[in-house]
Amino acid sequence: MRRLFIAGNWKMNLLREDAVALAEAVAAKADTVGMVDFAVCPPSVYLDAVGQALRGSKVGLGAQNMYHEAKGAFTGELSAAMLLDVGCQYVILGHSERRHILGETDLDVNRKVKAAIAAGLSPIVCVGETLAQREAEETLQLISSQFRGSLADLTEDDMQKVVIAYEPVWAIGTGRTASPEQAEQVHADLRQMLKDQYNTAVADTVRIQYGGSVNEGNAASLLSQPNIDGALVGGASLKADSFLAIAIKAISG
Ligand code: PEP
Repeated sequence: MRRLFIAGNWKMNLLREDAVALAEAVAAKADTVGMVDFAVCPPSVYLDAVGQALRGSKVGLGAQNMYHEAKGAFTGELSAAMLLDVGCQYVILGHSERRHILGETDLDVNRKVKAAIAAGLSPIVCVGETLAQREAEETLQLISSQFRGSLADLTEDDMQKVVIAYEPVWAIGTGRTASPEQAEQVHADLRQMLKDQYNTAVADTVRIQYGGSVNEGNAASLLSQPNIDGALVGGASLKADSFLAIAIKAISG
C-alpha cells in the first residue's frame, strides 16, 4: 500500500519571514492529517530556517535542485551533502522549468539522481510532455524517453528511493489540469515501465505524484486514481490552507 505523498514546490517565491510563517502553519496543521506524507521545498537560501520551523513535525524538507558533484569549484551550486546537512530528505530533480528554461538534459538529471541517492536523499524526479508533444500524440514516447534517460542505471534499491512526478508542462501554473483519465493513463504507463525495467515489487512500491495546477477542487478526482500516489503542488502550496486542503480532499474524496 503506497502512502499518499503531497509535496509543495515553493519555486522562487517568499522571503524569509513569510517562508518560515508558512512552514510553521503547514507543520502545525499537517499533524492532524493522517495517512499522508508531506514535504515542502523552499528556495535554497531558506532551507535551514524552514527546516528549523518544521522540526518535530511530520513535514519533510526538500530542495528544488542540486548539483551532481560532491564538492569543488562549481560556483553557485549546492551538493547533496549540503542539502542533507541542512535537514533535507528530498530534492526535486528535472522539474520542467529547469529542463525548459535552464536547459537541463536527461543526462544532467540522471547524474543528479545518482548523486542524491548515493548521499541518502530521495529524489522527486519530474517528467512531462509539452502541449505540442501531447497534440502530436508523442506523450508516451516522451515519458518513456525521460524515464529511461533520467532514471538510467539505477539498481532496484536505488529505484525504491525515487519518487516520480508526472507533470505535463502545459498544466504547470496554467490553471489547466490533466483530466483524471489523462493523468491516470500516464501514471499507469510509468508503473508498467517500472515493472518492465525492474519487477512488480518495485512497480508496486514507487510513488508517482501528479503535478500541474492541482488544487482543492480537483484533488479528489485526481488523487483517487489507482496509480496516482500524491501531488507535487506549485501555486496552491503557497498558502497552508490550500496546500493542506489538497490532502484532506484526497483522503476524504
Ligand atoms: C510545479 O511547479 O511543480 C507545479 C505543479 O506548479 P502548479 O501547481 O502551480 O501548476
